[in-house]
Amino acid sequence: MKDKLTELISYNRNIKKPMIIFTVTVVIICTLIIRSFYVPAYAIKINGQNIGVVADPSVFEEAVDSAETKVFEILGKDYNLESSTDISMTLAVKEQLVSSNEIKDSLIEQVNEIKKSYILKVDGIIIGASEDKSSLQSMLDKIISQYTNENTTYYQFEQDVSITYDYTAENTQSDPAVIYKTLTDNKEEAVLYTVVKGDTYSEIASNNGMRLSELMELNPQASIDRLMIGDVLNIKTAVPFLSVKTVENITYTEEIESPIEYVDDVSLYVGNSKTISEGTNGTSRINADITYLNGKEIERKIIKSSVIVEPTKTVVAKGITPRPKTASFGEYIWPVSGKVTSGVGSRYIFGSKNYHGGLDIAAPYGTNVKASDGGRVAFAGWSDSYGNLVIITHDNGTQTYYAHNSSLLVSKGEKVYRGQAIAKVGSTGQSTGNHSHFEIRVDGSIRNPYDYLYASR
Ligand SMILES: [Zn+2]
Repeated sequence: MKDKLTELISYNRNIKKPMIIFTVTVVIICTLIIRSFYVPAYAIKINGQNIGVVADPSVFEEAVDSAETKVFEILGKDYNLESSTDISMTLAVKEQLVSSNEIKDSLIEQVNEIKKSYILKVDGIIIGASEDKSSLQSMLDKIISQYTNENTTYYQFEQDVSITYDYTAENTQSDPAVIYKTLTDNKEEAVLYTVVKGDTYSEIASNNGMRLSELMELNPQASIDRLMIGDVLNIKTAVPFLSVKTVENITYTEEIESPIEYVDDVSLYVGNSKTISEGTNGTSRINADITYLNGKEIERKIIKSSVIVEPTKTVVAKGITPRPKTASFGEYIWPVSGKVTSGVGSRYIFGSKNYHGGLDIAAPYGTNVKASDGGRVAFAGWSDSYGNLVIITHDNGTQTYYAHNSSLLVSKGEKVYRGQAIAKVGSTGQSTGNHSHFEIRVDGSIRNPYDYLYASR
């Protein structure tokens, strides 16, 4: 009996122990389950509206800070975004927790003066905004299309151009016509210009849309009547607000100049030459990448070049016989330097109309009159209205006349070199003052000396 009772008691004990263990285990498991789903959190309300739940108040603080910074960037003024918010403790499912960035966006959206739209920026500056991304993109496409064609292999704006979807001020320019005008307007920019042959000051000004006075103002160091090839001037030129760089791949043909072969010739003076046989130019086919800036070529890179027609050579005889000092160059220098008081043509003088066959160059009495080119003196003496006259015949038969001299320094038959003093300035013959009357005659007929003289005096 006793044994049975003991058995029963121990049986009861054995039942109670597992029950406790089981209950504790369930509680622990439930707690673990709850803990794994729910976490202590903070609910955020803006103007009474639930915005989200964050794990830590610092997440909210961070969101407020960055939202206020962003609003300041956009509107240029401080906004207190925290005053409209409310924060309270709660339990939340982990998946419900929101990031600092999401809270930040909700905060920014409370500001009425800010909207979210597509923003067009050039070098970081906002040009305009639109609800419609494609309207902005098509403006950019239209500008690019002015500079592209079927040969274009590359195009890019020189500026950093971007379209982003972001917050911007409510009053950001959104009129497409105004935005397009901003993008396509020209702006004035200072650039350097290098003078090339044939340039004049006024041409450079007008070619760049400037007044002469503007050009002079920009270049106080330059002398308007002493423009030299290679001089660098400051100019203002119209540059589009957006610059487009394009590359085109183009194939074209190009002439190959006939190469020149020189052969020595004793019958010619050093410095003189004569073509013996004229060659022909060849042709080559070129493939090149040409880079343009707003349609103006700035670089050409030859990719491939092949000869289609070979050129043939030109043979030129080159003089090797030393040039005598008195030999003619075939080019003429001014006999004296001075103001031209009368040119070739009809004029009234001494009470009647007559034809003036040369240049009258004013110079003081006694100034040296120089031979315009080398040659032989054909006449030196008195000749009626010419007064004291020298005539020089040059190697090619051309003659030069020097009249009204006060005295003569050469005589007939003498060989003279270019620049040699042949007479002194005076006013002899039909003359109204000291000057040198200078003529050029080719095959006996009067020519305009301006067509033969070196430009410099
Ligand atoms: Zn004259």
